[in-house]
Amino acid sequence: MDRNVIIDGSQGEGGGQILRSALALSLATGTPFRMEKIRAGRRKSGLLRQHLTCVRLAARVGDAFAEGMDLGSKTLAFAPQACRPGTYEVQVGTAGSTSLVAQSVLPALLFADGPTELVIEGGTHARSAPPYDFLEQAWAPVMRTLGASISMAIERHGFFPAGGGRVRIRVEPTSSPRALELRERGERVGTHAKAIVARIPGDVAERELAVVAKQMGWPSSSLHVDAVRDTAGPGNALVLRIEHEHVTEVFTAFGSVGLPAERVAKLACADARSWLKGTAPVGTMLADQLMVPLALGAGGTYRTTALSRHSRTNLEVLMMFLGDICQVHPLEDGGVDVHIRGLLG
Ligand code: ATP
Repeated sequence: MDRNVIIDGSQGEGGGQILRSALALSLATGTPFRMEKIRAGRRKSGLLRQHLTCVRLAARVGDAFAEGMDLGSKTLAFAPQACRPGTYEVQVGTAGSTSLVAQSVLPALLFADGPTELVIEGGTHARSAPPYDFLEQAWAPVMRTLGASISMAIERHGFFPAGGGRVRIRVEPTSSPRALELRERGERVGTHAKAIVARIPGDVAERELAVVAKQMGWPSSSLHVDAVRDTAGPGNALVLRIEHEHVTEVFTAFGSVGLPAERVAKLACADARSWLKGTAPVGTMLADQLMVPLALGAGGTYRTTALSRHSRTNLEVLMMFLGDICQVHPLEDGGVDVHIRGLLG
């Protein structure tokens, strides 16, 4: 392979997503890359545990040559020789996100030539990353629309800072990927609020759900407490799920020491209400997480709100590997249609 993509990890968002997208794109296309200034946009730059776990997993899946695969490394050279489905088990070792580790290889494995089972240990519900519920209920259904069969289970919850969660994901790839066409939500079919609490004293869950009932106007049949056991440490997350005919969105806020339960609930409600005010099916977070899978499958179009910095940076990384495959059409209401031409389209 004579082409080698050179990536400046400080571009745009300058975070871990540039790395994860590059790993998935490299695995699927067989294109090697070299990344410099990894996560230079972050206070603690270079490869943290979560990112290192992504690289190690991708190197196993890709039977790859990798240089710079060390904690704190700011440069990485990665050259895969294959994209091998199979059974992989990895531990982040911190509360680093199991969902983000999964997303560094799954987009490639969704269209590989055999089934995969991933078992990932780390954080399942921690700030600044897709919580397990988001991966299962918002992201995975879109992957099924693209043709792949994907199922997942949470075997143990893992919160910041202890981590120790465990997630199992099974993928049965498709040989006939389908293009995505997601411009409308369709009818609302359900709402669901879940207050997850682990080793937290008192009435945190009830107080969060009381705020949801008041601010969202959801009936008590939509409100649930999930008191989880067997965790490595305490934790709390409030997960709001809104199901429509064509899309499910998930909005999460995380409890932390000194943050009152009411405040946690208001944060989740504010995100959910802001999405409900609009008409675009795909929310800000889901928007950046659909790009790589679409590009590696049959492509497609989705409607979302104005693109976040994560999304804009992700489009740049896509184009570095695959050329001019993305178009963004602005809409009158400030939203956009994202159109991506897929490799297998
Ligand atoms: P760093 O930013 O420190 O490099 P990182 O590796 O976690 O860390 P980012 O580049 O910030 O990476 O990417 C975070 C990803 O997590 C994005 O894809 C974003 O959409 C997603 N995300 C963050 N919070 C949520 C949330 N509450 N629900 C769903 N997805 C989320």
